[in-house]
Amino acid sequence: MTSESALRADIVEVGRRLYARAYTASNDGNISVRLGADRLLMTPKSVCKGFMTPDMMCITDLDGRKLQGDRDPSSEMLMHLEVYRQRPDVRAVVHAHPPIATGFAVAGIPLTRAVLAEVLTTLGSIPIAAYATPSTSELPDAVRQYIKAHDGMLLANHGALTVGGDLLAAYYKMETIEHFAKISLVARLLGRENLIAREEVERLQELRGTYGIKAPAPICADPSTALAVGPGGLLDDATCQVVEAPAGRGQRLVPDVLDLQGRGSGAQSGEPTANAVVTRASAGEVSPKPAADEGEIRLTYRELSALIEEAIRSLR
Ligand SMILES: [Zn+2]
Repeated sequence: MTSESALRADIVEVGRRLYARAYTASNDGNISVRLGADRLLMTPKSVCKGFMTPDMMCITDLDGRKLQGDRDPSSEMLMHLEVYRQRPDVRAVVHAHPPIATGFAVAGIPLTRAVLAEVLTTLGSIPIAAYATPSTSELPDAVRQYIKAHDGMLLANHGALTVGGDLLAAYYKMETIEHFAKISLVARLLGRENLIAREEVERLQELRGTYGIKAPAPICADPSTALAVGPGGLLDDATCQVVEAPAGRGQRLVPDVLDLQGRGSGAQSGEPTANAVVTRASAGEVSPKPAADEGEIRLTYRELSALIEEAIRSLR
């Protein structure tokens, strides 16, 4: 087991990197690690993560009682405690406000599209936990919905949270989320995202086993698992990582921009295809182009829900 002095030094180093990469500003963010079976080592409140020293850290028990340290523990301690309660496998928690990922969290757009193979094999999907007042017990309540099935999530109108088997693993997941958000933003500004087809997503999931990648839950790429939609994103049942991956029909990549004129019987009849439903299922998305010039159908969540309900009614 890593010694306490080494863990203190690791927290200082990760704090320095978070601040250097502008994932935090001022005194934002917090970091904790397990210190044995029943204690946590945690950043104190009201310090800049870029200028910490090892002696600043607090030691608490798993109920948040301070056992050691001159300063009070992080104002987000309740969120950290909840993660350790829900995930016995987690040994470190990192919370920061990386600006591009946080922009997605403010826009209410989850990072759940199947676009990058490495993100799919590691984090799977990155949902958005509902808005909660920072530092209150609302935040652990919001995080609880997703933490059993995800190692990383956005926090609505706030930031991001990552967890891992050690501190560097949790930190690298924060880097991955911000990098993924940056790439997603560029692709959306360019006006197009080619999505990885569902069959390929299933192949990538098998690679997790081949390479021994640990994930808290499997990926769900079947849209039937994503029928429950709510404000702000796909509702996750917390037993799988829901990704938006359309059926490829033999193609491994599926263009996001759909040409409904030339595809299958559903397209000929003017009805949105299953693909259209899946690929349009991102919350609150604003198209950089007028919808009409691509001959595509763009749906709001309300419209999508109505379509799904109508389809279910017609099946009965
Ligand atoms: Zn925060």
